Amino acid sequence: MADLSAIDIRDVFKHFGHGEARFAAVDGANLSIRQNEFFTLLGPSGCGKTTLLRLIAGFEFPSEGELVLHGENIAAMPPFKRPINTVFQNYALFPHLTVAENIGFGLKMLGKGKDVIAARVSEMLKLVRMEHLAKRATSQLSGGQQQRVALARALAPSPKVLLLDEPLSALDYKLRKEMQIELKRLQAETGITFVFVTHDQEEALTMSDRIAVMSSGKILQVGAPRDIYDRPADRFVADFIGETNFLKGKITALNEGKAQVAMTCGATLSAPAPEASRAGDEVTVMLRPEHARLVGADDPNAILTGSLANIIYFGTDTYFNVSLSDGSLFTVRQQNRPGEEGGRSEGDIVGISFPSDAIRVLRG
Ligand code: ATP
Repeated sequence: MADLSAIDIRDVFKHFGHGEARFAAVDGANLSIRQNEFFTLLGPSGCGKTTLLRLIAGFEFPSEGELVLHGENIAAMPPFKRPINTVFQNYALFPHLTVAENIGFGLKMLGKGKDVIAARVSEMLKLVRMEHLAKRATSQLSGGQQQRVALARALAPSPKVLLLDEPLSALDYKLRKEMQIELKRLQAETGITFVFVTHDQEEALTMSDRIAVMSSGKILQVGAPRDIYDRPADRFVADFIGETNFLKGKITALNEGKAQVAMTCGATLSAPAPEASRAGDEVTVMLRPEHARLVGADDPNAILTGSLANIIYFGTDTYFNVSLSDGSLFTVRQQNRPGEEGGRSEGDIVGISFPSDAIRVLRG
């Protein structure tokens, strides 16, 4: 069941503008979103996430390509006929209606009877834990409460797919964290496919079953959070998701799928080669700061050496920025533990070690 497809996006393009100003806001997207999945479209501002979501909703129509929902081509179907609902960033509640009236609004428009509406509204109030506020005007609710009403209203007609366009961005940090857990729970309890749009990589990593990373209208990578974080397809994805050190280098030899890389900072290392690599190829070596550790400069485990440019205390962690011989800065992020503080000063010559499976070699 979990692997049945809910939405298939096939070779979809959406162009805006005319003549020389014409451009593809969605540029040849291919994607299969599974039933029951918490799926996230992630990318920087302007990369086309909202446009892709609006194509699924039917607020925009594709210039080319197919949109298939549970096996049916819906590319030309008007939005109100699609079994899809959307939750917007600004909630778009009706201020003159109560919480219960807002939640029942969609069902009323569908011509459902009073008793059916009342039963469903009470179910939805329970689902979002707002039973005690049923009669309150929505203008008298906090931001988090309004967001719950918007969710309940969108879920009430039992859509097959719920689209969420940056629904948490108007909330403060603590409330956003709470609502992230709440959204995960609502998705699990209702079993509805959620398609969530965000530009916040941490939000995407913590909430999603799978993520599509977008840039300039293109889908660069689709995968589970851990796949994307640990095995980014390219430099853009690696840089956008999490903190990363990039080291320039050149492949000097290849052996059984492993590349030996001579880096501009002087060190050499060996790691799985990108597909179809050849000796002489320019590559970028990627290493997450939390996978590296500071050691003594003469420690046999030191792979890189450099001088400590600065130390930034960050509460849970400390960042050590090390200046390498080619002038680049390498960041080591270490967890702070009681009794282990201090011992390093700016200007110290230090070594950096990391496990060999933490290294990724990327093309270019
Ligand atoms: P954000 O996170 O800032 O909302 P986004 O990734 O959702 O960004 P989109 O809103 O999909 O990006 O926009 C993608 C590109 O398409 C942008 O360059 C935007 O200016 C353009 N665009 C979106 N809608 C239209 C429109 N109706 N007419 C012309 N250009 C548009």
